[in-house]
Amino acid sequence: MSHAPSYYAATANPFPDQPQLVGDLSVDVVVVGGGFTGLSAALYAAEAGFSVVLLESQRIGWGASGRSGGQMIPGMRWGAVDLAARFGDDHTRQLVGLANLAGDMVKGRIARHSIACDLRHGHFHAAAKPAHLEHMKRELDCLERLLGYKGARVIEAGAVQDHVASPMYHGGFVDDNGGHLHPLNYALGLAQAAREAGVRIFERSAVTAMDHAGPVIATTAQGTVTARHGVLACDAFMGELDPKLGAMTMPVANYNVATAPLGEDRACALIPSGAAVSDSKFVLNYYRINADNRLIFGGGEKYSPRPPADIEGFVRPYLEQVFPQLKGVPIDYGWGGMVGVTLNRLPHFGRIGNSFFAHGWSGHGVLLTTLAGQLIAEAMQGTAERFDLFANLPGRPFPGGTLLRHPLYVAGMLYYALRDRL
Ligand SMILES: Cc1cc2nc3c(=O)[nH]c(=O)nc-3n(C[C@H](O)[C@H](O)[C@H](O)COP(=O)(O)OP(=O)(O)OC[C@H]3O[C@@H](n4cnc5c(N)ncnc54)[C@H](O)[C@@H]3O)c2cc1C
Repeated sequence: MSHAPSYYAATANPFPDQPQLVGDLSVDVVVVGGGFTGLSAALYAAEAGFSVVLLESQRIGWGASGRSGGQMIPGMRWGAVDLAARFGDDHTRQLVGLANLAGDMVKGRIARHSIACDLRHGHFHAAAKPAHLEHMKRELDCLERLLGYKGARVIEAGAVQDHVASPMYHGGFVDDNGGHLHPLNYALGLAQAAREAGVRIFERSAVTAMDHAGPVIATTAQGTVTARHGVLACDAFMGELDPKLGAMTMPVANYNVATAPLGEDRACALIPSGAAVSDSKFVLNYYRINADNRLIFGGGEKYSPRPPADIEGFVRPYLEQVFPQLKGVPIDYGWGGMVGVTLNRLPHFGRIGNSFFAHGWSGHGVLLTTLAGQLIAEAMQGTAERFDLFANLPGRPFPGGTLLRHPLYVAGMLYYALRDRL
């Protein structure tokens, strides 16, 4: 079984097919989902001495993790200013301080396991409106005041061209702590590290039922795994296994393209710093130059579950709006994936019986998921303070139930997308 077609699938590092689960196993921990969250939880749990089985319905990295923009964006979807206004300074200091550990954790994993995933440094958040730049200045002040944050600065409109050769922006937030990577190869590297730590991975092994009371029992078509602890790491696909948890997130389709290689000079002229770039539009554009000098570009959201017939044609207008100089540029790959979005855009952590879950990354999952895996493994060992910092964040299901949540959400999104154009 191959990965869903994409630039990443075409350039994936070798990783052997893992067997299907056949028969009944008994272990300490059963993890459901082979994306960053599940892989990280499995790896940290195995390192803590637990025996671990990971069950993935398709292939490792098949979900959002193996298809994402690869942008390592520090922090959470809510900035420190908004968190402090809602939760106060002390809680924000703890939350953002913890979230900010994720970048070093990912870089640490890459170094420790020698994961070849084209890691590059730097993130630039481009201001699409003058008011967004003012907000970025307040954000930097808040980060410096609460956390003594280092490595970030705000630049004015006149300096934008040093970071990105686009006419669209009014300044931006430069953060040396961010970066970008080849997400499928990071997932495969984590999986390899997990195997070496003793995790048994099964692919093409969809969990069809899960019992969380007493011992956790995960059932697949041809077997069961009984465990002391379970981990639900299915993000946008959670609803298929647990409709109640699934109602806490909305799967939103997002599309990426990879241009043909542009050559070093042309690529460098587009993003001179080599950083990952995302902009502050509500329906954001996000892009980066990768290891072979392609532009990997994500833009536009489609609220119907059906993918566009022509992904390249769907994304191209956004790309050419950001970079008019790339009009007609050849596009070699186009692909899509499902982003798990919560109603308030904060991730949703918690427990059901003896199982833990973490999902709803709302487009900020490349870094936070690796952290979540560590926090889940800590909680299994009885130290749940850091897990509970996230688990205590407010969250509620999408209104309208599973039938109406989608049309209501679409109406809301179209309103905000319209505001982008004002
Ligand atoms: C197109 C796109 C671009 C993105 N760009 C960025 C970005 O640039 N930066 C950023 O920070 N975030 C980005 N994100 C979000 C980020 O990729 C996700 O938040 C993150 O990868 C989620 O990881 P996960 O492990 O929780 O979920 P996933 O990677 O989706 O993994 C869940 C896995 O669970 C498996 N599964 C589901 N149900 C079952 C079952 N019943 N039994 C067994 N297995 C099951 C699925 O097959 C899947 O492999 C993007 C997402 C998409 C789709």
